[in-house]
Amino acid sequence: MIDALTSPHPIINRPAPRAAKPVTLYDLTLDELEARVREAGQPAYRARQVYDWAYTKLARDYEAMTNLPATLRAELGETLPLAAMTPVRELVTDDGQTFKTLYRTFDGQLVETVLMLYPERATVCVSCQVGCAVGCAFCATGLGGLTRNLTAGEMVVQAVDAARRSHELGRRLTNLVMMGMGEPLQNYAATMRFIGIIHDPRGLNLGARRITVSTSGIVPKIDALATEPYQLNLAVSLHAPNDELRSRLVPINRRWPVAELLAACDRYIAATGRRISFEYALMKGINDGEGTARELATLLRGRLCHVNLIPLNPVDVLPYERPDPTGIERFAATLQTAGIPTTVRYSRGVEIAAACGQLRAQHEQASA
Ligand code: SF4
Repeated sequence: MIDALTSPHPIINRPAPRAAKPVTLYDLTLDELEARVREAGQPAYRARQVYDWAYTKLARDYEAMTNLPATLRAELGETLPLAAMTPVRELVTDDGQTFKTLYRTFDGQLVETVLMLYPERATVCVSCQVGCAVGCAFCATGLGGLTRNLTAGEMVVQAVDAARRSHELGRRLTNLVMMGMGEPLQNYAATMRFIGIIHDPRGLNLGARRITVSTSGIVPKIDALATEPYQLNLAVSLHAPNDELRSRLVPINRRWPVAELLAACDRYIAATGRRISFEYALMKGINDGEGTARELATLLRGRLCHVNLIPLNPVDVLPYERPDPTGIERFAATLQTAGIPTTVRYSRGVEIAAACGQLRAQHEQASA
């Protein structure tokens, strides 16, 4: 199932080729599609039929849309491709509950998506950029910097494919997290367009409360997110309770330090009434000490929040390790005793390189 994969980890920082980004069906809102269909001399209801095929029936191509006139299908096929990236590889965990897909975009970039099945939900983890400019010290994606932003359509492809895969497995896609490759709030406009499309009840109809946007702490965009009309979940990747440690792990902390970040979180909670999740990747000997846990508890006390402790999914060329189970439990217990709601979340699919950016890096290396 899994290729033999060896270090060294490749550094990926190639500039994106200057190919024009094609506009695809998945880039368009229903209103935009209606305008396009009218331009083709067809009534607007044809657009609603296309949308229904694409997002409810999860059709793979226009040929499957059999209640459309053949001329419209042909025209759309020529002028408006469904998608601009295709899956090149899928890995499945032994228990058959986690699926990682590697895509190749129209300009040859590689992007990852993970679908995770749980008894009560099916969650897709979507990527929003090729690479990432934030450069977190423990992250495979951050190793090579940012190549380019994904378009909304390239994000929609990942969600639709996960919905189709879930359907094939007798499940329904229920949740979406933007915790794959990239920083969603550094690709803000495309991320909001993407959310608008997948949230549309006439389309994929994913409830906003089932969509989680994750950020490393882009303060102005957290403020912008608080004004959006959607009741989204916000996850903030904290990873450390003080500036000295956080600036080492999450370099963007030098631009927006912990106090500024938490002030933005407080404004977000006040404006939306929504609880924030703080993500905390536990790294052995780095941020997992008893004193660090107490400092974190003090920092977060009194806030409408929840802490997700994520024992690190190690990257082979980076010097960070997962703590042993005792250390993880001790850290969690310290937070819980201090009254901070805390959950330990183990990463899915460690054996299929499900940590963000790992499969892409391995594929690049194997193809080199
Ligand atoms: S952890 Fe997220 S924000 Fe940090 S470098 Fe990786 S993809 Fe970017």
